[in-house]
Amino acid sequence: MTNLTIDETENYLRRLAAQLTDPHPGECLLCYVYRMLEHGCTGLRWASRYRDLRAPRATALERRLGDKGGFCDCEIFMNGFDLRSEFLVPEREEVDAEGVVTITDPMYPNVMPHCLGARRGSTRPCGLWAARRRGWAAF
Ligand SMILES: [Zn+2]
Ligand SMILES: [Zn+2]
Repeated sequence: MTNLTIDETENYLRRLAAQLTDPHPGECLLCYVYRMLEHGCTGLRWASRYRDLRAPRATALERRLGDKGGFCDCEIFMNGFDLRSEFLVPEREEVDAEGVVTITDPMYPNVMPHCLGARRGSTRPCGLWAARRRGWAAF
């Protein structure tokens, strides 16, 4: 293998990796960040990437997320936003072999609903998401 070929392969892999972590067309900030969390949480890496690619003028994004307790990508969902209850898997009664009943908490579905869409340049979440706290609605 010549060095040129190795370079080309590396470029190709880099491009491929970038595509895998790009927001889908019309995907909102939160659906994107939630989707990317399967790659792990490293600060506001995914929120910042979304901003850089889709809404570069939203320079205060990190501060606004931090105001709501979102100091890293996963905290956006722990502290700031929650999937609206109608999209959660509802709580269930489960009865084990001894007849003990446990009630599961509502859960995020394994396959997330499709993003309802966002305008380019906006960091506004789509209608799948609800603010956990008052005041966040102005986001
Ligand atoms: Zn985190
Ligand atoms: Zn969305």
